[in-house]
Amino acid sequence: MNVLGPIADMPSTTLPNLLALSSEQLCRLVADLGWPRYRATQILQWLYQHRVRDIRAMTNLPLDQRATLCRMAAIERASDVQCLVGADGTRKFLWSPVPNLSVETILIPEGRRLTLCVSSQIGCTLDCSFCLTGQMGWKRNLRAHEIVEQVLIAQDHLLPPQRITSLVFMGMGEPLANIDAVSEAIGRLTNAEWGLGFSPRRITLSTAGMVARFADIARLGVNLAVSLNATTDEQRQLLMPAINRLYPLEQLIAGCREYSQKTECCLTIEYVMLAGVNDTMHDARRLVQLLRGIRCKVNLIPFNEFASSSYRRPNETVVRQFQAVLRHAGFDVFVRKSRGSDILGACGQLGYIPRASAYSRVPTASAATQHERLVYEHG
Ligand code: SAH
Repeated sequence: MNVLGPIADMPSTTLPNLLALSSEQLCRLVADLGWPRYRATQILQWLYQHRVRDIRAMTNLPLDQRATLCRMAAIERASDVQCLVGADGTRKFLWSPVPNLSVETILIPEGRRLTLCVSSQIGCTLDCSFCLTGQMGWKRNLRAHEIVEQVLIAQDHLLPPQRITSLVFMGMGEPLANIDAVSEAIGRLTNAEWGLGFSPRRITLSTAGMVARFADIARLGVNLAVSLNATTDEQRQLLMPAINRLYPLEQLIAGCREYSQKTECCLTIEYVMLAGVNDTMHDARRLVQLLRGIRCKVNLIPFNEFASSSYRRPNETVVRQFQAVLRHAGFDVFVRKSRGSDILGACGQLGYIPRASAYSRVPTASAATQHERLVYEHG
């Protein structure tokens, strides 16, 4: 009989989750057990690089050590992951770390690039008036392993040679309001020896403007995106009241300037365009004035509409004219394409949707993936 057999029958939920341990905690556990140090590295590699779901699969650990580990801990990965597929190939993954709350993650294919947009919170601490996530309020901070889990889930759904080329913290939540968990997750995502091995340069963190924490981002060596979205305090107060009260425009711009001077990392200024609100030529010219001398690129994001919002998306001509003003002033300026809007997967469209009523399961069209395909029912 397999020496690990009976042990594995123990209910895993009563045991600590190996994925919830930091690498330091795992090293301490291995040391306490009197095992060699390299065991910790091997275990971490099984967890993050091989994505095993069962300690018994860690075949370079001696059988007795696997048995000991099974007695002490378990591997708890997300179960019942839902995957919605949009018409443009965008995929949205949903799962619940606790009952009735869903984590949302978006996988966006674009030519040879594959971008994963991860969430840092369920809901959001901020109250930006144009964002669906803001309207649902703050429900819960994600823990480091729940942030990493989103990447593991996406990788589980990829077929070789597909691989994620960039990670953006632009899903639900304000990542800088959950900086400890986000930093710990980035550590695991970037560790090349035992972690997922992403270059920090392929990771971008988007913030509504928590200036006091820009230094943390610089230290992590990842890219920063700042959601500016307005060119006067009055306007920004209306669109992003909570964050603008904490860090008014002048402080935010000073923070961006300092960040761009002190780091080699890329700074992106994001600007959601709302028809008739912040999309005039005056706004464009004020934006040029504000950003003068700051090394950055600008991403214009035409508003993604959702049912409970009265904001509207500006028409294409207005967006192009706005872009032209910035380009003429010498900025690299891009218009972000809206992706996955039919599965509420585009920027600002992530929010809690009761699961059973909103989605229906249909069998997958492609047997190759072995995953269920889900279809979003509109209305
Ligand atoms: N809290 C972070 C990250 C989440 S939002 C932040 O504010 O940056 C990611 C981006 O989507 C931000 O630039 C935000 O301004 C933008 N966004 C929010 N709602 C939107 C909507 N309905 N349409 C288009 N962009 C939106």
